[in-house]
Amino acid sequence: MKHMRNEVVYRIDQNDFLIFFNAEWNLFAEENDSFHLIGENIWKRSIWDFIHDRGTRHLHATLLHKVRSDRTILRLPFRCDSPALRRFMEMDILPMGEGRVEYRCRMIKIEEREPVPMLAGDATGGESLLRMCSWCKKVDVGDNSWFEIEDAIKILGLFFKGTTPGISHTMCEECAGGLEDK
Ligand SMILES: [Zn+2]
Repeated sequence: MKHMRNEVVYRIDQNDFLIFFNAEWNLFAEENDSFHLIGENIWKRSIWDFIHDRGTRHLHATLLHKVRSDRTILRLPFRCDSPALRRFMEMDILPMGEGRVEYRCRMIKIEEREPVPMLAGDATGGESLLRMCSWCKKVDVGDNSWFEIEDAIKILGLFFKGTTPGISHTMCEECAGGLEDK
């Protein structure tokens, strides 16, 4: 695959079931020999069937909640590598009303690399936990610097790795301070 011409678009309903894929989605699945991911094969499947590691699930659930409740559009960089290509991509997550959400993914840049076995490296064991505030959902990027989840994902490059560290729930200083004031 040389490049992706159009955006890959898919949508979920209010219960997180996949309800729409554009033609580019199917092209992308075919070019990656992922025929099991062609739209007609996964229509009405839950997106959670396709996100396995707990940290990544948690991040996506928090992002989805934010998009739905704040009716805001989030833009996030991520990687979608194949054994021979590094694909730098960007994802928009848009609220569509009635709890439906649209994902739009576009290619930013592609680099060829020596083919490597997928899923090698990025071991999860022993990594430090990501700290998320239970109240405001901000994430500590280190040294007690708390950022909105979408900014923390960019700063830490969380979606550039195969897996996400586990998440520990805590309270950021700002929220802790707010409670003390009351
Ligand atoms: Zn907080």
